[in-house]
Amino acid sequence: MKNETKILHSIEPDLLTGAISTPIYQTATFVQDSPGVHHGFDYGRTNNPTRAVLEKLIATLENGSHGFAFASGLAAIDAVIKLLNSGDQIVAVDDLYGGTWRTLNHIYNRLGIQLVRVDCSDVRNVRASVTDKTKLIWIESPTNPTLKIADIKEISLIAKKIGALLVVDNTFASPVLQNPIDLGADIVIHSATKYLAGHSDLIAGLVVTRTVELAEQIKFIQNSSGAILGPFDSWLTIRGIETLALRVNKQCDNAELVAHFLANHPSVKRVNYPGLDTHPNHEIAKNQQARFGAMISFSLKTDTIDAGTQVCSSTELFKLAESLGGVKSLICQPALMTHKSIPQDVRHAAGIDDSLIRISCGIENADDLIADLKQALDKI
Ligand SMILES: *Cc1c(COP(=O)(O)O)cnc(C)c1O
Repeated sequence: MKNETKILHSIEPDLLTGAISTPIYQTATFVQDSPGVHHGFDYGRTNNPTRAVLEKLIATLENGSHGFAFASGLAAIDAVIKLLNSGDQIVAVDDLYGGTWRTLNHIYNRLGIQLVRVDCSDVRNVRASVTDKTKLIWIESPTNPTLKIADIKEISLIAKKIGALLVVDNTFASPVLQNPIDLGADIVIHSATKYLAGHSDLIAGLVVTRTVELAEQIKFIQNSSGAILGPFDSWLTIRGIETLALRVNKQCDNAELVAHFLANHPSVKRVNYPGLDTHPNHEIAKNQQARFGAMISFSLKTDTIDAGTQVCSSTELFKLAESLGGVKSLICQPALMTHKSIPQDVRHAAGIDDSLIRISCGIENADDLIADLKQALDKI
């Protein structure tokens, strides 16, 4: 079965009523027949029928054993880090999502978990950084905001060899474009806030495990720490996922056209998009992704903060905001927004130029998106 069909038909009609739209079970507790005898649900933190449909759906889409829904992407990330013990080490991609970096660097570091960051676009760096303390290898591919690609299959072999788990934050690709478990990952994470929910209308996170054994551990942490997704947001996320394939394919169509337009514009210095054959890991992206995604970043020949700000402030369809993956196109300037807390020299070393602009292509007409960027670029 192809993705578009599989997504829709992995959502079963409600067993009790036949409702084709998953009912929102807005309840805290469930009445029991006699003490300890119930219908699979006892308390809303532990389990909820609406959340259970979403959890089963994401497990199916990512070809994993089980799925888990959390109150945010970061709550999902937090649950996975809690698999570790004090003294363990995480080897992670250098341009880790800012929130993941913050929790590892400011909270888990204090609790004895060490973070080592490496450029994972070259597997040799990963191989050289792991030690017998490494318990997780944590990658994002494509990365934010420079769209670097890591070879998931190769890195999974390194993880296996040292007995570590490979965690892939698959937010930027979505399950329509990339299935890390098929490539050897043990755990997949999504900020469902982005492509999965798809309408910039909620905050949610998901975890998918490869094995039942890992699922049991995550289930225990989810119930013990308690950062679960509520029934209404679970329902909205299910509703978003129903149109995921349609949206992401249209977003990729738009991004391919926009990336080519940008690459040929005289004011643009460099375009980061895995779909361009100038991208250093274009071939790996081609092998492990169905398409190249809808996130693009680019820097300007006039490589100043001001020039970047001028372009970001001149678009009309691309709305100036953090976040990504929604139906409406967004634009942001990482140096002043998502990556503001990083010192300039560290930022530059990571390829985040002063003028770097990140865009998330929505589902508008591509001609309109290109015209919008053209009028903004022509002003500088
Ligand atoms: C947004 C994002 C997160 C965090 O998700 P929230 O839902 O905002 O908590 C994690 N990873 C990536 C790659 C993201 O883009």
